Amino acid sequence: MNIVLFGPPGVGKGTQSALLVKKLGMVHISTGDLLRSSVKEGGALGLKAKSYMDRGELVPDEIVLEMLVGAINRGNGNFVLDGFPRTVAQARALDGLLESRKIKLNRALFMEIDDLTLKERLTGRRVCRECGAVYHVKFEPPKVEGKCDSCSGALYQRKDDSEEVIGVRLATYRKETAPLKDYYEKAGILKAVDCDGDSMVVFGRLEKFLKN
Ligand code: AMP
Repeated sequence: MNIVLFGPPGVGKGTQSALLVKKLGMVHISTGDLLRSSVKEGGALGLKAKSYMDRGELVPDEIVLEMLVGAINRGNGNFVLDGFPRTVAQARALDGLLESRKIKLNRALFMEIDDLTLKERLTGRRVCRECGAVYHVKFEPPKVEGKCDSCSGALYQRKDDSEEVIGVRLATYRKETAPLKDYYEKAGILKAVDCDGDSMVVFGRLEKFLKN
């Protein structure tokens, strides 16, 4: 089973992907994570990507696509794509990429939630600098403030989770990513998942859509 998760920033794509990996053994491909690793490495590609990410804008397709092709080639299917595609042009590029490898995309899960909840989720999000685990100061706090439960790494707030950048990311989402609903509806693989509530409750809803 190969799936795409899409929805506004902060809807819980990363959290649900981690559950899909843990419970169903899927392979997580997150273009956001790939980009952040490349920024951490400090190469030319990462440096170029960083300026877009810090502003909350989309990184140019040629950079993201190169990373995506690498990740798809390394894997053996059974993937959950998180954060890609983010535009209809990227969805078309993905279709071409998968077609040439005879890989089928089984579902595109649209994760939906209201704006107020989104903003609260994003501003309270904290990420482990070492292992990338995601917390929330209110909804999923670590046992010790500022420290990761699993590796004791320091938690930080992503630069693009600041209130100002969140506005840009949401606007980008509405303009560029929301049209994917139509795209995948026409392809006959769209399912909309209500993402309000506890992460396990949301996972239960999501799992149902993978079976039916
Ligand atoms: P995410 O972790 O998915 O929220 O992504 C963080 C940032 O990485 C986004 O705000 C974009 O700047 C960039 N990014 C991630 N995925 C893509 C993509 N498919 N296309 C363009 N930019 C992306």
